[in-house]
Amino acid sequence: MSFIRDRLPDPVSYFESQGQNPKGPGKWKTMGCTFHGGSDSMRINSTTGTWVCMAGCGARGGDVLAYHMAAHGLDFMSAAKDLGAWVDDGKPSKQQRPKPLPATEAIRVLAFESTLTAIAAGNIAHGVQLTDKDRARLYVAAQRIQTISEAFA
Ligand SMILES: [Zn+2]
Repeated sequence: MSFIRDRLPDPVSYFESQGQNPKGPGKWKTMGCTFHGGSDSMRINSTTGTWVCMAGCGARGGDVLAYHMAAHGLDFMSAAKDLGAWVDDGKPSKQQRPKPLPATEAIRVLAFESTLTAIAAGNIAHGVQLTDKDRARLYVAAQRIQTISEAFA
């Protein structure tokens, strides 16, 4: 069991997942400070995840893990597990790679693409010639089905 720093989420994505909206063109971005309620006093480093409140409430830390611990009152291990950076017996405690889309949406796409593919297969079985457009669309369907199958495998 160990902590794997590389598995910590990208700082900007992480802060966005916390309901924040880091803004600014440079490496250091501005967002609200949840610790004292300031609307734009928190500076975050979009590369390292370092965070510091400029309003003087004392909130600061070196990375998203420290932020997660402070914001949710978690210990190191719980926070690392929460962020998918804790590995048990060689397996991540949480799926590291995000799914490309929610499961319900994936089922909708699969249902549509597989129906389309089934209709095309039925046509081929009946000796109907597919047009180039049909073939191009089938290729897209095949790719979508494969992408979803791999993501949820
Ligand atoms: Zn603050």
